[in-house]
Amino acid sequence: MSVKRVVTHQEIDKKPALDVQSIDNFCLTLARDLLDTMHASPGCVGLAAPQIGVSVRAFSVNVTGHKKTKTCHGELVLFNPKILSGDAPVTAREGCMSVPELTGDVTRFENLAIAGIGINGEEIKIETDAFEARALQHEIDHLDGLLFLDRLAGPGALHIRKVYK
Ligand SMILES: [Zn+2]
Repeated sequence: MSVKRVVTHQEIDKKPALDVQSIDNFCLTLARDLLDTMHASPGCVGLAAPQIGVSVRAFSVNVTGHKKTKTCHGELVLFNPKILSGDAPVTAREGCMSVPELTGDVTRFENLAIAGIGINGEEIKIETDAFEARALQHEIDHLDGLLFLDRLAGPGALHIRKVYK
């Protein structure tokens, strides 16, 4: 078990992360670290490798049980993810582990198809919608050095994060 520190938006590497060439031990350790860190972070539905200081195209997502989730694929770790198609853009609030003090309104595809590589080296295709689609787009943005702060849906789209008790 290896829980990593999540870097803040001031610290995060803004350069595009690198594709992996194959799923080797480095990738398996990275996958474990992403999951361990996600599990140790209350309310976290996704984490990208650059958020734990690794500039590699990988992320974990799990939107199970979230009230805005429709389609759900459970716990996912994907390498080299690519958006195949998206439609029906909708604007909604989102947050980020690297921006703990703020949330923002961001326009994302409601319906999304992506492809990537799983931890067994297998090709994975995911068709999803709603909150899972939003989480996947948010994590893929991290791999391109983008934060929700870079995609705000206009003036008034940035909010102080509510503190949940
Ligand atoms: Zn994020």
